Amino acid sequence: MPTSIVTGGAGFLGSHLTDKLLSEGHQVIGIDNLLTGNTRNIEHLAGNPNYRYIKQDVTEYLYIPGEIDFIFHFASPASPIDYLELPIQTLKVGSLGTHKTLGLAKAKKAKFLLASTSECYGDPLVHPQKEDYWGNVNPIGPRGVYDEAKRFAEAMTMAYHRTHGVDTHIVRIFNTYGPRMRLRDGRVVPAFVSQALKGQPLTVFGDGGQTRSFCYVSDLIEGIYRLSQADFHEPVNIGNPNEMTIKQFAEQIIKITGSASTIDYRPLPVDDPKQRQPDITRAKSLLNWEPKVGLEEGLTKTIDYFRGCLDQE
Ligand code: UDP
Repeated sequence: MPTSIVTGGAGFLGSHLTDKLLSEGHQVIGIDNLLTGNTRNIEHLAGNPNYRYIKQDVTEYLYIPGEIDFIFHFASPASPIDYLELPIQTLKVGSLGTHKTLGLAKAKKAKFLLASTSECYGDPLVHPQKEDYWGNVNPIGPRGVYDEAKRFAEAMTMAYHRTHGVDTHIVRIFNTYGPRMRLRDGRVVPAFVSQALKGQPLTVFGDGGQTRSFCYVSDLIEGIYRLSQADFHEPVNIGNPNEMTIKQFAEQIIKITGSASTIDYRPLPVDDPKQRQPDITRAKSLLNWEPKVGLEEGLTKTIDYFRGCLDQE
């Protein structure tokens, strides 16, 4: 039975990845300091003999006895509002946290997978984004704390691979949505869905002409799991190429929720990328992977989840 560590294990993606690993027969140790994670995301694992949770900040020295086969480094604030509020923690977990987890992988001879991001491409001048595009990032802007931390994390991961021979993997994650996102993390999916369910205006930033491409969480996790099994060390984009403007996305959410909400235009945040769409050619050929869940199906499941969260308030 392989043993895997998932940092950020009580987060949105970390908890879904944990479920997938458990279903594939792994033992899982989840590490999370609950800065943006929540134990509600792992409460269904209470009493599972194959799961253990450790509350720790992964920027501190990690002491984990026993054999470890795989480390998935998913700890980080990940929404623009979170990393604006937590700039230093975001930089530390991407840099010091990646160093600590790579050090653990080296010591345990474990495989390693870094959760990187489409933010490595910044406000991209190449469209759609292929893995060999180096990006257009403002290092000193408000998003720089996340973008540069993740770019450093990629550099550190490749250095441990090349220098120490650690078997590493890097996934560049594009916009993903689904149950267990935080209702108030400020990202567009929870924001629009909760506004639509409450009948409040949807806050579209700028003129809503900026684009994103949204991937349902189960598709993303399947792609990441396949990448973890592959003999490939360079970054791989995982995301859904179904690109739309934020205004179209707002209209879609109003339609699916059957809400009477209107749209309220607000100022565009600094350095908000104008367009984003993953080129998934590499994932298709390497992993035989492509997303399967359509937007309407994924949004319906996500809306049900947020409806439950709002009912509990
Ligand atoms: N956005 C919006 N209204 C909101 C929240 C976000 O119009 O209430 C926009 C945001 O400006 C960006 C897109 O939606 O263009 C996606 O934002 P998100 O924070 O989800 O993630 P990003 O893709 O920017 O990292």
